[in-house]
Amino acid sequence: MILKHFTELQEFLSEPRNVVIIGHRNPDGDAIGSTLGLKHYLDKKGHKTQVLMPNEYPDFLHWIPGSKTVKRFDRQNSQSVKALRKSDIVFLLDFNALHRVGNDMQNTLEQYENDFALIDHHQQPDDFMYMYSDTSMSSTCQMVYNFIEMMGDVELIDKDIATCLYTGIMTDTGSFRFRSTTSTTHRIIADLIDKGAENDRIHSNVHDANSYNRLLLLGQALSNMKVLPEYKTAFITLTEEEKKKFNYEKGDTEGVVNYALSLKGIVFAAIFIEDEEQGIVKISFRSKGKFSVNQFARNYFNGGGHDNAAGGRSDDSLENTIERFKSLLPTYQKELEDSYEA
Ligand code: 5GP
Ligand code: MN
Repeated sequence: MILKHFTELQEFLSEPRNVVIIGHRNPDGDAIGSTLGLKHYLDKKGHKTQVLMPNEYPDFLHWIPGSKTVKRFDRQNSQSVKALRKSDIVFLLDFNALHRVGNDMQNTLEQYENDFALIDHHQQPDDFMYMYSDTSMSSTCQMVYNFIEMMGDVELIDKDIATCLYTGIMTDTGSFRFRSTTSTTHRIIADLIDKGAENDRIHSNVHDANSYNRLLLLGQALSNMKVLPEYKTAFITLTEEEKKKFNYEKGDTEGVVNYALSLKGIVFAAIFIEDEEQGIVKISFRSKGKFSVNQFARNYFNGGGHDNAAGGRSDDSLENTIERFKSLLPTYQKELEDSYEA
């Protein structure tokens, strides 16, 4: 755990400030929940806040309280730049290094003259003026709860803040089932329910929001799945053509990789998705047990994340990327074998 200049940050926030809060590119439930949760809290403390996201986020996250106030750096660029220019501090939530916001926004942030405050649970964070980094945390939302507690303000958590934080903890823990879910996570969740988070509604808003096409795309993904039992590995592919066929929208492939990991005996799962817009293959990795997909993604696919959930990318074709992936597996056969806990 790293906690750097917390007292100084507390002091800095003892006067009303202009605050910008940023999540990572392709924001997920934890990025949206943590930024908006922190926004509602800082608003209550008398600060002026603006949440900025690098790009769009899925429909199933648009119901979250405060979502309408979010500005997108790619679409509302001049307003975003203006907010940054006016701000006294920028909070970076749910990512560990500036490149995770994408090139354009990264360039702008690198010119930023005031200080950054990081709250994040990813491994190997870059150095910023104010830092709260803890890789053992289930989610950045859990850390925002802790941050509010360290500020001595748990009593300020209201229904909106509780709803935001509940959502991110829920999505980042796969609905409270990943290893990062501790008894403390559950205690915080219980408190958030007490403070007004309507758990049944939140689950339903996020998980029962499928379009017909999304389910058909899932069907396609599942029928593309390949299993390599000798490496306890399963992987899924989706081509640009298949995405188009089912009217792909942002977020439609969220969580699909977990179906590969749900196969009995599988400890390593991946999904490879052609992304014409970025000219890359976007990859998600998941594992069970000791095998670190963070290390694997870092070593071979220009990515990173957590031990059991990471992402990466490839500039090669889908076909070559798969070949490369398969060629790496024999090196890890023993590790994958040992990762398995029956
Ligand atoms: P997902 O596979 O759901 O996109 O991401 C899984 C985890 O890995 C998330 O915590 C996400 O922030 C991280 N991640 C995804 N893609 C990348 C990447 O390209 N680079 C790094 N460093 N982390 C990533
Ligand atoms: Mn997260």
